[in-house]
Amino acid sequence: MVLIVGSGLAAFSIGLELERRAIKFNIMGDDLTSASHISSGIINPISGRELLLTPNYNILLDAAIPFYVIDGTNFLKKVDIIKKIKDINTIKDLELNIENKTEWISKINEDTVLIKKAYQLDVNLFLNTLKKRFIESGNFFKEAFEYNLVELKDNVKYKNKEYDFVIFAEGMGIVKNIFFNHLPFLPNRGEALYLSVQNYNKEEICHDGKFICKYGDGFWVGSTFDRVPFSEPSKTENSFESLSQAAIKLTEGHNFQIMAHLGAFRCASHDRRPYIDVHTEHKQLYVFNGLGTKGATYIPFFTHQIIDHILYKTPINKEVRLDRIKRNKIYRTV
Ligand SMILES: Cc1cc2nc3c(=O)[nH]c(=O)nc-3n(C[C@H](O)[C@H](O)[C@H](O)COP(=O)(O)OP(=O)(O)OC[C@H]3O[C@@H](n4cnc5c(N)ncnc54)[C@H](O)[C@@H]3O)c2cc1C
Repeated sequence: MVLIVGSGLAAFSIGLELERRAIKFNIMGDDLTSASHISSGIINPISGRELLLTPNYNILLDAAIPFYVIDGTNFLKKVDIIKKIKDINTIKDLELNIENKTEWISKINEDTVLIKKAYQLDVNLFLNTLKKRFIESGNFFKEAFEYNLVELKDNVKYKNKEYDFVIFAEGMGIVKNIFFNHLPFLPNRGEALYLSVQNYNKEEICHDGKFICKYGDGFWVGSTFDRVPFSEPSKTENSFESLSQAAIKLTEGHNFQIMAHLGAFRCASHDRRPYIDVHTEHKQLYVFNGLGTKGATYIPFFTHQIIDHILYKTPINKEVRLDRIKRNKIYRTV
């Protein structure tokens, strides 16, 4: 029996894969709004000012496409991204910047590109579907996990139950996790606006400084990236103002109403790769966290890896393992 701690995209996805493999599990999550619940769910091969290609993108995508289908319902949608480039040097060297990436990006004009092979996950629908399913199967317990109640033996005793393994996938909740909170997690506050826009029906995602994309019944404009401690508020007046300005530009003169101001912390890592591994001393404890801005992209592939590691001791990719932290002598910064 495996216990998963968390109630975001990581925890529920691991639960889904354990269910698919007929392995017994419980999920303990406080069900609070987190990064997953306000994420635009974009799986994007190209990111950053310099139009960098996500390493191993096609491998990650091959894992994601079948993963986000449950009982014939596909929660993932293929979508084009039209991106306006801001950086003057990138514009100058645009041909050079994209010449080895034509599978994923092509030029529209001198400062605009089309990003191909991008997808959008309806994260909230996916999570609500899974939560209902796990409540019905008796596998989801809405409660906050209390780390000081863990008793470590060959297995893990928690309250009156025993588990063979525990996978911690609690996003920024990791700061209270006495087994893994020494890792150099970096907080990254992200804010966005949820809009209702009159007569605006664009199917593609537009990126002009900020993104505008479909979200539920409306549209999502975001996001911000602020390196501030987890103790700071998740929403700010300043970001509300700057996102409102971005919304005016991105909706191209259409009337809109702001339905909600969204804010949450992404749990990022020191080198933009997740921390997915077994504890160095306690072999019954795993961490699955540090997904930063790319949870939807990373989660399916690494969910398979962590479960395969538990079952068959197959290796976890070195770029997400914890031993890279020691090698680089990086220390916790928050
Ligand atoms: C504005 C914004 C936009 C984003 N856009 C994208 C995007 O387009 N594409 C993309 O891939 N990613 C995006 N992300 C990032 C993405 O949201 C994350 O990478 C991913 O959702 C992280 O999932 P998680 O499950 O690890 O963590 P979280 O979403 O933080 O979930 C953790 C959950 O565990 C719960 N929890 C914490 N502690 C405990 C405890 N002790 N006991 C029980 N439960 C606990 C929390 O309350 C929470 O519900 C965005 C993030 C933000 C903020």
